[in-house]
Amino acid sequence: MLFEEFGFDNRILKSIAHLGFDEATEIQARAIPEAVAGRDLLASSKTGSGKTLAYLLPALHRVYKKKALSKRDPRVVVLVPTRELAKQVYGQLRLLLAASRFTSILIQGGENFNDQHKQLQKDPHFIVATPGRLVDHLKQRHVFLEGLELLILDEADRMLDLGFAEAMRAINVAASHRQRQTLFFSATLDNTEVSEIAGELLREPSRVAVGQGFDEHTDISQHILLCDHLDHKEALLKHILVGQTIKQAIIFTATKNDTVRLAEIIAGWGLTTQALNGNLSQSARNKTMESFAKGQFDVLVSTDVASRGLDIASVSHVFNFDLPKQAEEFIHRTGRTGRAGFKGDAYSLVGPKDWVNFKAIETFLQKVFTTEVIVGLEPKFKGLTPPKPARKIAKKSVEKEDSKTPRKSSRKSVGKARFHDNKQDGFDAFKLPPKRFEKQANTDDGED
Ligand code: ADP
Ligand code: MG
Repeated sequence: MLFEEFGFDNRILKSIAHLGFDEATEIQARAIPEAVAGRDLLASSKTGSGKTLAYLLPALHRVYKKKALSKRDPRVVVLVPTRELAKQVYGQLRLLLAASRFTSILIQGGENFNDQHKQLQKDPHFIVATPGRLVDHLKQRHVFLEGLELLILDEADRMLDLGFAEAMRAINVAASHRQRQTLFFSATLDNTEVSEIAGELLREPSRVAVGQGFDEHTDISQHILLCDHLDHKEALLKHILVGQTIKQAIIFTATKNDTVRLAEIIAGWGLTTQALNGNLSQSARNKTMESFAKGQFDVLVSTDVASRGLDIASVSHVFNFDLPKQAEEFIHRTGRTGRAGFKGDAYSLVGPKDWVNFKAIETFLQKVFTTEVIVGLEPKFKGLTPPKPARKIAKKSVEKEDSKTPRKSSRKSVGKARFHDNKQDGFDAFKLPPKRFEKQANTDDGED
Protein backbone atom coordinates (compact mmCIF):
# COMPACT_ATOMS: atom_id res chain seq x y z
CA MET A 1 0.00 0.00 0.00
CA LEU A 2 1.34 3.41 -0.93
CA PHE A 3 1.44 6.19 1.64
CA GLU A 4 -0.63 8.32 -0.76
CA GLU A 5 -3.54 5.95 -0.34
CA PHE A 6 -4.10 6.66 3.37
CA GLY A 7 -5.76 10.00 2.74
CA PHE A 8 -3.08 11.80 4.73
CA ASP A 9 -2.77 15.54 4.83
CA ASN A 10 -0.41 16.78 2.09
CA ARG A 11 2.05 18.09 4.65
CA ILE A 12 2.41 14.59 6.02
CA LEU A 13 2.96 13.16 2.55
CA LYS A 14 5.72 15.69 2.06
CA SER A 15 7.45 14.65 5.28
CA ILE A 16 7.23 11.00 4.26
CA ALA A 17 8.69 11.84 0.86
CA HIS A 18 11.56 13.56 2.70
CA LEU A 19 12.24 10.31 4.51
CA GLY A 20 12.38 8.65 1.09
CA PHE A 21 9.54 6.16 1.62
CA ASP A 22 6.67 5.43 -0.80
CA GLU A 23 5.28 2.16 0.30
CA ALA A 24 3.97 1.31 3.74
CA THR A 25 5.22 -1.76 5.55
CA GLU A 26 2.60 -4.35 6.46
CA ILE A 27 2.10 -3.19 10.03
CA GLN A 28 1.76 0.37 8.75
CA ALA A 29 -0.73 -0.66 6.07
CA ARG A 30 -2.88 -2.40 8.64
CA ALA A 31 -2.49 -0.20 11.70
CA ILE A 32 -2.67 3.26 10.15
CA PRO A 33 -6.25 3.04 8.80
CA GLU A 34 -7.50 1.80 12.19
CA ALA A 35 -5.73 4.57 14.03
CA VAL A 36 -6.79 7.27 11.58
CA ALA A 37 -10.39 6.10 11.98
CA GLY A 38 -10.03 6.99 15.65
CA ARG A 39 -10.14 3.48 17.02
CA ASP A 40 -8.05 2.21 19.90
CA LEU A 41 -5.43 -0.21 18.69
CA LEU A 42 -3.61 -3.20 20.05
CA ALA A 43 -0.77 -3.97 17.66
CA SER A 44 2.27 -6.15 17.31
CA SER A 45 4.79 -7.00 14.62
CA LYS A 46 8.38 -8.07 14.39
CA THR A 47 11.38 -5.87 15.05
CA GLY A 48 12.41 -3.38 12.39
CA SER A 49 9.05 -3.48 10.63
CA GLY A 50 8.25 0.21 10.94
CA LYS A 51 6.06 0.46 14.04
CA THR A 52 7.25 3.98 14.85
CA LEU A 53 5.72 5.50 11.74
CA ALA A 54 2.68 3.27 12.18
CA TYR A 55 1.81 5.37 15.23
CA LEU A 56 3.50 8.71 14.51
CA LEU A 57 1.79 9.26 11.16
CA PRO A 58 -1.75 8.84 12.50
CA ALA A 59 -0.76 11.12 15.39
CA LEU A 60 0.35 13.78 12.94
CA HIS A 61 -2.76 13.33 10.85
CA ARG A 62 -4.87 13.87 13.91
CA VAL A 63 -3.22 17.11 15.02
CA TYR A 64 -3.35 18.50 11.48
CA LYS A 65 -6.98 17.59 10.89
CA LYS A 66 -8.67 17.98 14.25
CA LYS A 67 -9.16 20.90 16.54
CA ALA A 68 -7.29 20.61 19.81
CA LEU A 69 -9.33 19.63 22.88
CA SER A 70 -7.29 22.01 24.98
CA LYS A 71 -5.02 24.92 24.21
CA ARG A 72 -2.49 24.09 26.88
CA ASP A 73 -2.35 20.35 27.36
CA PRO A 74 -0.26 18.11 25.15
CA ARG A 75 -2.23 16.55 22.32
CA VAL A 76 -0.10 13.43 21.90
CA VAL A 77 1.99 11.53 24.43
CA VAL A 78 4.26 8.69 23.34
CA LEU A 79 5.49 6.47 26.17
CA VAL A 80 8.54 4.29 25.66
CA PRO A 81 10.47 2.08 28.08
CA THR A 82 14.04 3.32 27.76
CA ARG A 83 15.79 6.62 27.37
CA GLU A 84 17.64 5.42 24.30
CA LEU A 85 14.40 4.57 22.57
CA ALA A 86 12.82 7.83 23.73
CA LYS A 87 15.58 9.78 22.03
CA GLN A 88 15.22 7.81 18.84
CA VAL A 89 11.44 8.18 18.61
CA TYR A 90 11.79 11.85 19.45
CA GLY A 91 14.32 12.26 16.64
CA GLN A 92 11.92 10.72 14.15
CA LEU A 93 9.07 12.88 15.40
CA ARG A 94 11.19 16.03 15.08
CA LEU A 95 11.89 15.20 11.45
CA LEU A 96 8.21 14.76 10.76
CA LEU A 97 7.27 17.99 12.52
CA ALA A 98 10.12 20.03 11.06
CA ALA A 99 8.00 21.96 8.60
CA SER A 100 5.01 22.36 10.89
CA ARG A 101 4.03 24.75 13.66
CA PHE A 102 3.71 21.91 16.14
CA THR A 103 6.16 21.57 18.98
CA SER A 104 7.48 18.53 20.79
CA ILE A 105 9.62 17.77 23.80
CA LEU A 106 11.44 14.81 25.26
CA ILE A 107 10.86 13.95 28.92
CA GLN A 108 13.10 11.23 30.26
CA GLY A 109 14.74 10.22 33.48
CA GLY A 110 18.32 11.22 34.11
CA GLU A 111 17.93 14.71 32.63
CA ASN A 112 17.46 17.96 34.53
CA PHE A 113 14.01 18.11 36.08
CA ASN A 114 13.78 21.92 36.13
CA ASP A 115 14.75 22.23 32.50
CA GLN A 116 11.97 19.82 31.66
CA HIS A 117 9.56 21.86 33.77
CA LYS A 118 10.45 24.94 31.75
CA GLN A 119 9.90 23.09 28.49
CA LEU A 120 6.53 21.86 29.74
CA GLN A 121 5.52 25.45 30.54
CA LYS A 122 5.72 26.17 26.82
CA ASP A 123 2.80 23.82 26.26
CA PRO A 124 4.24 21.48 23.65
CA HIS A 125 1.84 19.58 21.41
CA PHE A 126 3.76 16.33 21.53
CA ILE A 127 5.60 14.68 24.42
CA VAL A 128 7.81 11.64 24.06
CA ALA A 129 8.49 10.29 27.54
CA THR A 130 9.65 7.49 29.72
CA PRO A 131 6.74 6.77 32.10
CA GLY A 132 8.44 7.33 35.46
CA ARG A 133 9.62 10.84 34.76
CA LEU A 134 6.35 11.93 33.18
CA VAL A 135 4.53 10.80 36.32
CA ASP A 136 6.94 12.86 38.43
CA HIS A 137 5.91 15.95 36.44
CA LEU A 138 2.23 15.04 36.70
CA LYS A 139 2.58 14.83 40.47
CA GLN A 140 4.20 18.24 40.55
CA ARG A 141 1.35 19.55 38.39
CA HIS A 142 3.81 20.64 35.73
CA VAL A 143 1.63 19.07 33.09
CA PHE A 144 -2.02 18.06 32.77
CA LEU A 145 -3.45 15.44 30.51
CA GLU A 146 -7.14 16.36 30.52
CA GLY A 147 -6.82 17.51 26.93
CA LEU A 148 -4.72 14.60 25.73
CA GLU A 149 -6.07 13.25 22.45
CA LEU A 150 -3.77 10.37 21.75
CA LEU A 151 -1.83 8.19 24.17
CA ILE A 152 0.68 5.90 22.49
CA LEU A 153 2.52 3.10 24.26
CA ASP A 154 5.48 1.72 22.36
CA GLU A 155 7.13 -1.51 23.57
CA ALA A 156 4.42 -1.74 26.20
CA ASP A 157 5.49 -5.21 27.27
CA ARG A 158 8.97 -3.94 28.01
CA MET A 159 7.55 -1.08 30.07
CA LEU A 160 5.79 -3.69 32.16
CA ASP A 161 9.01 -5.71 32.49
CA LEU A 162 10.76 -2.63 33.76
CA GLY A 163 8.15 -2.12 36.45
CA PHE A 164 6.32 0.82 34.88
CA ALA A 165 2.84 -0.66 35.32
CA GLU A 166 1.89 1.79 38.07
CA ALA A 167 3.26 4.75 36.13
CA MET A 168 1.30 3.65 33.06
CA ARG A 169 -1.84 3.43 35.17
CA ALA A 170 -1.26 6.87 36.67
CA ILE A 171 -0.88 8.37 33.20
CA ASN A 172 -4.00 6.56 32.07
CA VAL A 173 -5.96 8.00 34.98
CA ALA A 174 -4.65 11.51 34.38
CA ALA A 175 -5.89 11.26 30.79
CA SER A 176 -9.07 9.33 31.35
CA HIS A 177 -11.56 11.43 29.46
CA ARG A 178 -13.83 9.99 26.84
CA GLN A 179 -12.32 11.44 23.71
CA ARG A 180 -8.90 9.98 24.27
CA GLN A 181 -7.60 7.43 21.80
CA THR A 182 -4.96 4.88 22.77
CA LEU A 183 -2.50 2.99 20.56
CA PHE A 184 -0.74 0.12 22.23
CA PHE A 185 2.28 -1.52 20.59
CA SER A 186 3.82 -4.58 22.12
CA ALA A 187 5.97 -7.45 20.89
CA THR A 188 3.81 -9.84 22.85
CA LEU A 189 0.07 -9.50 23.15
CA ASP A 190 -0.72 -12.86 24.68
CA ASN A 191 0.85 -12.44 28.05
CA THR A 192 -1.41 -11.99 31.06
CA GLU A 193 0.13 -8.80 32.34
CA VAL A 194 0.00 -7.24 28.87
CA SER A 195 -3.65 -8.21 28.35
CA GLU A 196 -4.54 -6.91 31.78
CA ILE A 197 -3.11 -3.47 31.29
CA ALA A 198 -4.37 -3.34 27.70
CA GLY A 199 -7.82 -4.11 29.09
CA GLU A 200 -7.55 -1.15 31.45
CA LEU A 201 -6.16 1.34 28.96
CA LEU A 202 -7.96 0.52 25.73
CA ARG A 203 -11.60 0.67 24.72
CA GLU A 204 -12.80 -1.97 22.27
CA PRO A 205 -9.48 -1.98 20.48
CA SER A 206 -8.88 -3.23 16.98
CA ARG A 207 -6.24 -5.90 17.05
CA VAL A 208 -3.51 -5.90 14.44
CA ALA A 209 -0.88 -8.61 14.70
CA VAL A 210 1.44 -8.98 11.75
CA GLY A 211 2.72 -12.48 12.12
CA GLN A 212 3.78 -13.10 15.64
CA GLY A 213 6.51 -11.09 17.26
CA PHE A 214 8.71 -14.13 16.96
CA ASP A 215 8.07 -15.08 13.34
CA GLU A 216 11.26 -16.02 11.65
CA HIS A 217 13.03 -12.88 10.55
CA THR A 218 14.28 -13.57 7.04
CA ASP A 219 16.82 -10.76 7.04
CA ILE A 220 18.60 -12.03 10.15
CA SER A 221 20.80 -15.15 9.96
CA GLN A 222 20.97 -16.78 13.36
CA HIS A 223 24.21 -18.56 14.27
CA ILE A 224 24.48 -20.62 17.42
CA LEU A 225 27.94 -21.55 18.65
CA LEU A 226 28.49 -23.80 21.63
CA CYS A 227 31.42 -22.93 23.85
CA ASP A 228 33.17 -24.30 26.88
CA HIS A 229 34.05 -21.35 29.06
CA LEU A 230 34.72 -17.64 29.10
CA ASP A 231 38.09 -17.83 27.30
CA HIS A 232 36.47 -19.88 24.59
CA LYS A 233 33.70 -17.32 24.18
CA GLU A 234 36.26 -14.58 23.83
CA ALA A 235 38.25 -16.55 21.27
CA LEU A 236 35.12 -17.16 19.19
CA LEU A 237 34.12 -13.54 19.44
CA LYS A 238 37.54 -12.41 18.37
CA HIS A 239 37.57 -14.81 15.45
CA ILE A 240 34.27 -13.49 14.12
CA LEU A 241 34.76 -9.80 14.93
CA VAL A 242 38.25 -9.63 13.51
CA GLY A 243 37.73 -12.10 10.68
CA GLN A 244 34.45 -10.91 9.15
CA THR A 245 33.45 -7.77 7.40
CA ILE A 246 31.59 -6.00 10.11
CA LYS A 247 30.03 -2.62 9.64
CA GLN A 248 28.95 -2.14 13.19
CA ALA A 249 28.23 -4.65 15.93
CA ILE A 250 26.34 -4.70 19.21
CA ILE A 251 27.43 -7.22 21.81
CA PHE A 252 25.08 -8.02 24.66
CA THR A 253 26.43 -9.20 27.98
CA ALA A 254 24.67 -10.28 31.15
CA THR A 255 26.10 -7.72 33.54
CA LYS A 256 27.15 -4.08 33.57
CA ASN A 257 30.67 -4.98 34.63
CA ASP A 258 31.00 -7.37 31.73
CA THR A 259 30.31 -4.58 29.25
CA VAL A 260 33.33 -2.67 30.52
CA ARG A 261 35.58 -5.69 30.81
CA LEU A 262 34.72 -6.95 27.34
CA ALA A 263 35.04 -3.52 25.74
CA GLU A 264 38.58 -3.32 27.08
CA ILE A 265 39.41 -6.70 25.61
CA ILE A 266 37.92 -5.80 22.24
CA ALA A 267 39.83 -2.54 22.15
CA GLY A 268 42.94 -4.70 22.54
CA TRP A 269 42.02 -6.40 19.25
CA GLY A 270 42.30 -3.07 17.49
CA LEU A 271 38.58 -2.31 17.17
CA THR A 272 36.95 0.90 18.26
CA THR A 273 34.50 0.13 21.00
CA GLN A 274 32.53 1.55 23.91
CA ALA A 275 30.52 0.10 26.77
CA LEU A 276 26.94 1.10 27.49
CA ASN A 277 25.13 0.26 30.70
CA GLY A 278 22.80 1.67 33.30
CA ASN A 279 25.67 2.71 35.58
CA LEU A 280 26.68 5.49 33.22
CA SER A 281 25.29 8.97 33.66
CA GLN A 282 22.55 9.93 31.27
CA SER A 283 24.79 12.30 29.37
CA ALA A 284 27.40 9.57 28.96
CA ARG A 285 24.72 7.18 27.71
CA ASN A 286 23.49 9.75 25.23
CA LYS A 287 26.97 10.50 24.02
CA THR A 288 27.78 6.83 23.50
CA MET A 289 24.57 6.18 21.59
CA GLU A 290 24.92 9.27 19.44
CA SER A 291 28.45 8.49 18.52
CA PHE A 292 27.57 4.87 17.75
CA ALA A 293 24.65 5.98 15.59
CA LYS A 294 26.99 8.28 13.71
CA GLY A 295 29.34 5.40 13.07
CA GLN A 296 32.15 6.89 15.13
CA PHE A 297 33.04 3.53 16.62
CA ASP A 298 32.48 -0.07 15.54
CA VAL A 299 31.43 -2.14 18.50
CA LEU A 300 28.93 -1.29 21.21
CA VAL A 301 29.07 -3.59 24.22
CA SER A 302 25.83 -3.25 26.11
CA THR A 303 23.43 -4.70 28.63
CA ASP A 304 19.78 -4.92 27.66
CA VAL A 305 19.46 -1.12 27.80
CA ALA A 306 20.16 -1.25 24.05
CA SER A 307 18.02 -4.29 23.28
CA ARG A 308 14.77 -2.61 22.35
CA GLY A 309 13.76 -0.37 19.55
CA LEU A 310 17.15 1.04 18.61
CA ASP A 311 17.28 1.50 14.90
CA ILE A 312 20.73 1.81 13.40
CA ALA A 313 20.75 0.45 9.88
CA SER A 314 24.49 -0.13 9.77
CA VAL A 315 24.46 -2.69 12.57
CA SER A 316 25.51 -5.75 10.58
CA HIS A 317 26.14 -8.05 13.55
CA VAL A 318 24.63 -8.71 16.94
CA PHE A 319 26.28 -10.99 19.49
CA ASN A 320 24.72 -12.58 22.49
CA PHE A 321 27.92 -12.99 24.45
CA ASP A 322 25.62 -14.25 27.17
CA LEU A 323 22.11 -15.37 26.39
CA PRO A 324 19.30 -13.29 27.83
CA LYS A 325 17.37 -14.68 30.77
CA GLN A 326 14.05 -13.75 29.23
CA ALA A 327 13.44 -15.59 26.01
CA GLU A 328 11.67 -12.78 24.22
CA GLU A 329 14.64 -10.49 24.82
CA PHE A 330 16.46 -12.69 22.31
CA ILE A 331 14.20 -11.38 19.55
CA HIS A 332 14.71 -7.81 20.57
CA ARG A 333 18.46 -8.06 20.86
CA THR A 334 18.95 -9.86 17.57
CA GLY A 335 16.41 -7.50 15.99
CA ARG A 336 18.96 -4.67 16.30
CA THR A 337 20.31 -5.99 13.03
CA GLY A 338 18.55 -6.88 9.78
CA ARG A 339 16.59 -3.65 9.89
CA ALA A 340 14.73 -1.84 7.11
CA GLY A 341 15.56 -4.46 4.49
CA PHE A 342 19.26 -4.85 5.30
CA LYS A 343 20.71 -8.28 6.04
CA GLY A 344 22.19 -9.02 9.42
CA ASP A 345 23.97 -11.77 11.33
CA ALA A 346 23.23 -12.66 14.92
CA TYR A 347 25.66 -14.86 16.84
CA SER A 348 24.73 -16.47 20.12
CA LEU A 349 27.47 -17.98 22.24
CA VAL A 350 26.01 -20.77 24.30
CA GLY A 351 28.09 -22.06 27.18
CA PRO A 352 27.00 -24.42 29.94
CA LYS A 353 25.72 -21.47 31.96
CA ASP A 354 23.58 -20.31 29.03
CA TRP A 355 22.07 -23.70 28.34
CA VAL A 356 18.88 -23.31 30.33
CA ASN A 357 18.23 -19.91 28.76
CA PHE A 358 19.02 -21.30 25.33
CA LYS A 359 16.45 -24.06 25.71
CA ALA A 360 13.89 -21.54 26.96
CA ILE A 361 14.52 -19.46 23.84
CA GLU A 362 14.01 -22.48 21.60
CA THR A 363 10.78 -23.30 23.37
CA PHE A 364 9.59 -19.72 23.11
CA LEU A 365 10.42 -19.53 19.41
CA GLN A 366 9.10 -23.03 18.81
CA LYS A 367 12.29 -23.73 16.96
CA VAL A 368 15.24 -26.05 17.25
CA PHE A 369 18.46 -24.31 16.29
CA THR A 370 21.30 -26.11 14.60
CA THR A 371 24.67 -25.22 15.98
CA GLU A 372 27.69 -24.17 13.98
CA VAL A 373 31.34 -24.87 14.59
CA ILE A 374 34.37 -22.77 13.77
CA VAL A 375 37.28 -24.91 12.68
CA GLY A 376 40.07 -24.75 15.21
CA LEU A 377 37.68 -23.50 17.90
CA GLU A 378 35.50 -26.57 18.30
CA PRO A 379 33.77 -26.89 21.65
CA LYS A 380 33.93 -29.90 23.91
CA PHE A 381 30.60 -28.86 25.30
CA LYS A 382 27.76 -30.52 23.42
CA GLY A 383 24.81 -29.30 25.41
CA LEU A 384 23.27 -30.66 28.52
CA THR A 385 20.87 -33.56 28.61
CA PRO A 386 17.70 -32.24 30.14
CA PRO A 387 16.19 -33.94 33.13
CA LYS A 388 13.51 -36.38 32.06
CA PRO A 389 10.09 -34.92 32.70
CA ALA A 390 9.18 -35.76 36.25
CA ARG A 391 5.79 -37.12 35.31
CA LYS A 392 7.25 -39.76 33.05
CA ILE A 393 9.65 -40.88 35.71
CA ALA A 394 6.80 -41.31 38.10
CA LYS A 395 4.69 -43.24 35.61
CA LYS A 396 7.56 -45.47 34.64
CA SER A 397 8.25 -46.37 38.21
CA VAL A 398 4.64 -47.32 38.68
CA GLU A 399 4.63 -49.43 35.54
CA LYS A 400 7.84 -51.07 36.48
CA GLU A 401 6.64 -51.79 39.94
CA ASP A 402 3.62 -53.41 38.43
CA SER A 403 5.83 -55.64 36.36
CA LYS A 404 7.86 -56.29 39.47
CA THR A 405 10.93 -54.49 38.30
CA PRO A 406 13.00 -53.46 41.31
CA ARG A 407 12.59 -49.86 42.39
CA LYS A 408 16.23 -49.22 41.71
CA SER A 409 15.62 -48.78 38.01
CA SER A 410 13.52 -45.68 38.50
CA ARG A 411 16.38 -44.29 40.56
CA LYS A 412 18.59 -44.95 37.65
CA SER A 413 16.51 -42.84 35.34
CA VAL A 414 16.64 -40.08 37.92
CA GLY A 415 20.38 -40.42 37.99
CA LYS A 416 20.53 -40.18 34.23
CA ALA A 417 18.61 -37.00 34.35
CA ARG A 418 21.75 -35.26 35.47
CA PHE A 419 23.43 -33.23 32.81
CA HIS A 420 26.09 -35.28 31.19
CA ASP A 421 28.82 -32.75 30.69
CA ASN A 422 29.03 -31.05 34.00
CA LYS A 423 32.16 -32.71 35.25
CA GLN A 424 34.23 -31.67 32.35
CA ASP A 425 33.30 -28.01 32.42
CA GLY A 426 33.01 -27.63 36.13
CA PHE A 427 29.76 -25.67 36.11
CA ASP A 428 28.26 -26.93 39.30
CA ALA A 429 25.15 -24.86 38.95
CA PHE A 430 23.80 -27.47 36.61
CA LYS A 431 23.98 -30.36 38.98
CA LEU A 432 20.52 -30.38 40.36
CA PRO A 433 20.44 -32.52 43.46
CA PRO A 434 18.70 -35.84 42.86
CA LYS A 435 16.39 -35.07 45.75
CA ARG A 436 14.73 -32.40 43.72
CA PHE A 437 13.81 -34.84 40.97
CA GLU A 438 12.36 -37.23 43.48
CA LYS A 439 10.34 -34.47 44.97
CA GLN A 440 9.01 -33.41 41.59
CA ALA A 441 8.08 -36.98 40.80
CA ASN A 442 6.22 -37.25 44.06
CA THR A 443 4.32 -34.05 43.56
CA ASP A 444 3.32 -35.18 40.12
CA ASP A 445 2.22 -38.46 41.49
CA GLY A 446 -0.09 -36.66 43.84
CA GLU A 447 -1.59 -34.67 41.00
CA ASP A 448 -2.21 -37.71 38.87
P1 ADP B 1 10.11 -1.22 14.74
O1 ADP B 1 9.64 -0.18 15.72
O2 ADP B 1 9.01 -2.04 14.16
O3 ADP B 1 11.21 -2.07 15.30
P2 ADP B 1 11.12 1.08 13.30
O4 ADP B 1 9.91 1.93 13.37
O5 ADP B 1 12.24 1.42 14.21
O6 ADP B 1 10.75 -0.46 13.48
O7 ADP B 1 11.58 1.08 11.76
C1 ADP B 1 12.68 0.37 11.31
C2 ADP B 1 13.34 1.06 10.13
O8 ADP B 1 12.51 0.98 8.97
C3 ADP B 1 13.59 2.54 10.36
O9 ADP B 1 14.88 2.86 9.90
C4 ADP B 1 12.55 3.23 9.54
O10 ADP B 1 12.97 4.51 9.11
C5 ADP B 1 12.39 2.27 8.38
N1 ADP B 1 11.06 2.35 7.77
C6 ADP B 1 9.90 2.58 8.41
N2 ADP B 1 8.86 2.57 7.55
C7 ADP B 1 9.38 2.34 6.33
C8 ADP B 1 8.80 2.22 5.02
N3 ADP B 1 7.51 2.32 4.83
N4 ADP B 1 9.64 1.97 3.98
C9 ADP B 1 10.96 1.82 4.20
N5 ADP B 1 11.57 1.92 5.40
C10 ADP B 1 10.80 2.17 6.46
MG1 MG C 1 10.07 0.25 17.64
